[in-house]
Amino acid sequence: METSSWLISGGRDRTVGAPLNVPIVPSSNFLLQSSDPEGRSYARAHGTQSTDALEALLGPLDGGEALVFSSGMAAAAAVLHRVPFGGTIAIPLDPYHGVKHIAIEGEALNRWRVIRLDLADTNSWVAALETADLVWLESPANPLMTVADLPTICGAPRPTGTIVAVDSTFATPLLQRPLGLGADVVMHSATKFIGGHSDLMAGSITTSNSDLLEEFRSRRTITGGSIGALESFLTLRGARTLSLRLEQAQRSAQTLAERLLEHSEISTVRYPGLETHPTHSVAKTFMSGFGAMMSFDPTGPGERAGALCDSLKMVFHATSLGGVESTMERRAVIAGQEDIPPSLIRFSVGCEDVEDIWNDISQALDITKVTN
Ligand SMILES: *Cc1c(COP(=O)(O)O)cnc(C)c1O
Repeated sequence: METSSWLISGGRDRTVGAPLNVPIVPSSNFLLQSSDPEGRSYARAHGTQSTDALEALLGPLDGGEALVFSSGMAAAAAVLHRVPFGGTIAIPLDPYHGVKHIAIEGEALNRWRVIRLDLADTNSWVAALETADLVWLESPANPLMTVADLPTICGAPRPTGTIVAVDSTFATPLLQRPLGLGADVVMHSATKFIGGHSDLMAGSITTSNSDLLEEFRSRRTITGGSIGALESFLTLRGARTLSLRLEQAQRSAQTLAERLLEHSEISTVRYPGLETHPTHSVAKTFMSGFGAMMSFDPTGPGERAGALCDSLKMVFHATSLGGVESTMERRAVIAGQEDIPPSLIRFSVGCEDVEDIWNDISQALDITKVTN
């Protein structure tokens, strides 16, 4: 079955008389039977029927079994915190800031060692497989849109016990399948494209390693990273249209990136679908599309980028991404992002008409034009 069909038809109860949509089950506590001590007893440990349906939908998308969490960070933390005392974690130079925070904090507490590698430097990642307990990749990465050579890194031989995890949030399960390339774990912030409507927090881990799955499940139970029933329902509801939304947004993203590249008031555009992007040729080898995320720098001082975001009339000046609505944000002003180019605007392309998005960007560029 095509992924787009699975997104619509998967995770449903097909018994006669069953509701087509698994209902929101607001219950923490479930009836027991003494002959079945493993049965569903408590939502923190076992989720609810709403959670089951979402996990049943998400697992096959990445080619494994999925566990959903209360947020992308809860899912990421479950993976990071399995690194043994005195172990080593390899992370990108600039991973998602929450991931960086956990890694650096653990190092400061002498819990583990952190090595930070350039995502584009494939050899350094392959070398890290020899020494690291956890190799944490993020691709395409936030906000320079660097694409890592996942087939080479995930497919390279590594010692037993070394875990390769990929934060695949920007790609979604539709554009790349890291487990198929040899990764052990794929993580998504379902808050973003999978949910797609900026109305929930959710995260997921998918793996085809059953020992890891059970380890993550028990970590989720103990730390309370379990997702609520309403969020499970909303995530599933949003995921039904992921393929439609992403196709539309991605098409617009390519058009907009090309136009921005030509615009005299723009100095840099970073989109993996542009031939000018440093990792375009790598992305082409294994991604089935380049996604709906990009970043660009307007000319002039850094403040112009902030002013541009404030001047938008339809696109929203907001931090998150992956929604049906287009959003933009100047990243350098965010705490912990001081290394980011001062004029960089991260742009999450939504599902509005592409000409309306373009007109909005054009008018904001006009209004903020620096005259000298
Ligand atoms: C948002 C995001 C996260 C964290 O997910 P939350 O759902 O906000 O906890 C992790 N990685 C990437 C790439 C993200 O965009």
